Amino acid sequence: MAKQIVMLGPPGAGKGTQAKMLAEKLGVPHVSSGDIFRENLRAQTELGRHAGVYINRGELVPDDVTIAMIRERISRRDCNDGVLLDGFPRTAAQAEALDEMLSDLDKGQVVAVAEALDEMLSDLDKGQVVAVPCIIVPEDVLIERLTGRRTCRAQGHVFHIAFNPPVQAGVCDFDGSELYQREDDTVETVTNRIRVYHERTQPLIDYYQQRGVLLEIDGNRPIEAVFDGILSALTGV
Ligand code: ADP
Ligand code: ADP
Repeated sequence: MAKQIVMLGPPGAGKGTQAKMLAEKLGVPHVSSGDIFRENLRAQTELGRHAGVYINRGELVPDDVTIAMIRERISRRDCNDGVLLDGFPRTAAQAEALDEMLSDLDKGQVVAVAEALDEMLSDLDKGQVVAVPCIIVPEDVLIERLTGRRTCRAQGHVFHIAFNPPVQAGVCDFDGSELYQREDDTVETVTNRIRVYHERTQPLIDYYQQRGVLLEIDGNRPIEAVFDGILSALTGV
């Protein structure tokens, strides 16, 4: 049984930041739907052009397009031992599609990092999402985080001008590439994205809560403290 973890939380909660750290710790790929869309936008693929219209308005890309993209990504070999999904699922239809995909895919054995995590995973049903850390942050903090976010062009590393600044302004600490402000990180688009989150993604919290896999995490703390909170929630199940 493989590790299938879904990171939930409103835009700006710190999903991407935490998902990168956690994926590294667990040794599974970090699959971010937003990053894949942005790569396609940059490469001007058909998918990118199609998705770009929705992204720049702060709306969700249609489910069929998003589901097909994620299906293709998680069926690759590097996801055999599990995957950390960031930004997907975001709607009830996507969550159902994910469960189907996981039970369709023949996944390999788990190579767990922590004994407790290993036990937790082997106890849970095959082909399902096993843990859903949900990062909770007040709305005014979300807006501050998103409007000050800076993203690296090469690999999507994330910084904040005040809360998590790079060593040299405008330059990624990890790969030296340029940091830019995402077009959808303006106050107007951000406000719309938070509204869309409440409408479309909030129901997933109930869905996963009923299944007993939701882990509520206080995200209004320094990055390292949030990470410790996620790790202890994952190993304490
Ligand atoms: P999401 O993927 O949920 O939209 P990000 O991980 O991109 O969120 O984080 C949004 C912004 O907030 C980024 O600029 C990031 O550097 C910053 N950030 C992330 N976690 C924290 C935190 N715990 N405290 C302060 N700022 C944070
Ligand atoms: P954030 O880090 O702020 O939560 P993302 O990078 O995850 O934002 O997503 C940026 C945009 O990409 C979304 O506003 C939406 O238009 C699109 N997108 C990402 N993931 C999905 C998804 N699962 N379903 C539909 N649209 C998505």
